[in-house]
Amino acid sequence: MPSIEKHIEISIRRTGKPYREVHEWIDDPQHKNERHDITRVLEFSRIFEEKYGEEAAREYVQHLADDLNGKFNHLIEDVQALVDTTLAYFGAKKQ
Ligand SMILES: [Zn+2]
Repeated sequence: MPSIEKHIEISIRRTGKPYREVHEWIDDPQHKNERHDITRVLEFSRIFEEKYGEEAAREYVQHLADDLNGKFNHLIEDVQALVDTTLAYFGAKKQ
């Protein structure tokens, strides 16, 4: 998953604003699992919308999407490495 600084960098690229308070809130180590819970997206996005506006609420949802993409990219890299190692072990070449 991207670091808070990376999330901020992505937000600036996407919106022109860092939304540091959004990313720090989501990744607070004390509440990290609860705040990444996809079943609470509606509840938390409303809080962000009321407090900082619609764009902040969208950046909260985008943070979750970026974390998810990061996780899957790692998973794909790990699986690919395992496939490559296994193919090499059996002397099979990757096409
Ligand atoms: Zn996160």
